[in-house]
Amino acid sequence: MPKMRAMVLDRPKTPLVLREQPVPQPAAGQILIAIEACGVCRTDLHVVDGELPNPKLPIVPGHEIVGRVAALGPGVRNFALGTRVGVPWLGEACGVCPYCRSGRENLCDAPVFTGYTRDGGYATYTLANARFSFALPENRDAAETAPLLCAGLIGWRSYRMAGQGEALGLYGFGAAAHILAQVAIWQGRRVFAFTRSSDTASQDFARSLGAVWAGGSDEMPPEKLDAAIIFAPVGALVPAALAVVKKGGRVVCGGIHMSDIPSFPYRLLWEERELLSVANLTRRDAYEFLTIAPRAGIKMQVTRFPLDQANAALDDLRQGRFEGAAVLVP
Ligand SMILES: [Zn+2]
Ligand SMILES: [Zn+2]
Repeated sequence: MPKMRAMVLDRPKTPLVLREQPVPQPAAGQILIAIEACGVCRTDLHVVDGELPNPKLPIVPGHEIVGRVAALGPGVRNFALGTRVGVPWLGEACGVCPYCRSGRENLCDAPVFTGYTRDGGYATYTLANARFSFALPENRDAAETAPLLCAGLIGWRSYRMAGQGEALGLYGFGAAAHILAQVAIWQGRRVFAFTRSSDTASQDFARSLGAVWAGGSDEMPPEKLDAAIIFAPVGALVPAALAVVKKGGRVVCGGIHMSDIPSFPYRLLWEERELLSVANLTRRDAYEFLTIAPRAGIKMQVTRFPLDQANAALDDLRQGRFEGAAVLVP
């Protein structure tokens, strides 16, 4: 039986371990994917750190998967062997709950999440539902494509939720913000990047991508903003962001987990400021964004790690040791 390699989380708060295991067979509706690259997302850190409830255990993390179709399960007709595909966080939605039936499969009552409730992409092979996988361009580097699958897609959903305003703040200038900033600037918006106050490297990086201003999240930007998206998992940024948006401005929380939000005076929300969160993604978000991404000419900054260095990649993400995105290449 052919073997695959995978980095496996047995228990939260323990390091991933490299395992050899049999290559799984795709069930009806599934595809087997030979993985070319898998991005390392902050959500993976939340899974590993035990900050998200009830993961499947043991679990292979990773939900920014780029690979080639290596086998087709019964009934799969939308892909051919060898096609390059991408697999995102939303691995499956039930299709029958009230959310699925109202175009909100991102809120499905019975979802499957890649790398959380189904094994993901920190491996040489994985299984995915063919209907929740997307054909990807052949002519791009796999590692530079992988971060589009979550940082890009959930970033895009957050960006749409932020509305049409011209002055956009981004809190936490990591993988998602570095993609979104380029999309926003391509669309003629002005980007204001907020980082940890001491993180001048990220501020320089944001300016190099075209941000009109970059500074610490404790600083006031030179003007009031139309909207802000918070990607950093820091609840204290919520009142900080409300304080820098205009009347009627919107603050979007783009992450799956955040530390507690400190109490704040009502005047920060007053004057029709809005605060909302973004959960997961729909396939429509993916089709939309994967069409826009090549046109926006996004330059992806990636740091590559071999598969067996996944723990180092997670640690570097935790410590903010690189700009852009980390990607595992098996
Ligand atoms: Zn559903
Ligand atoms: Zn993610």
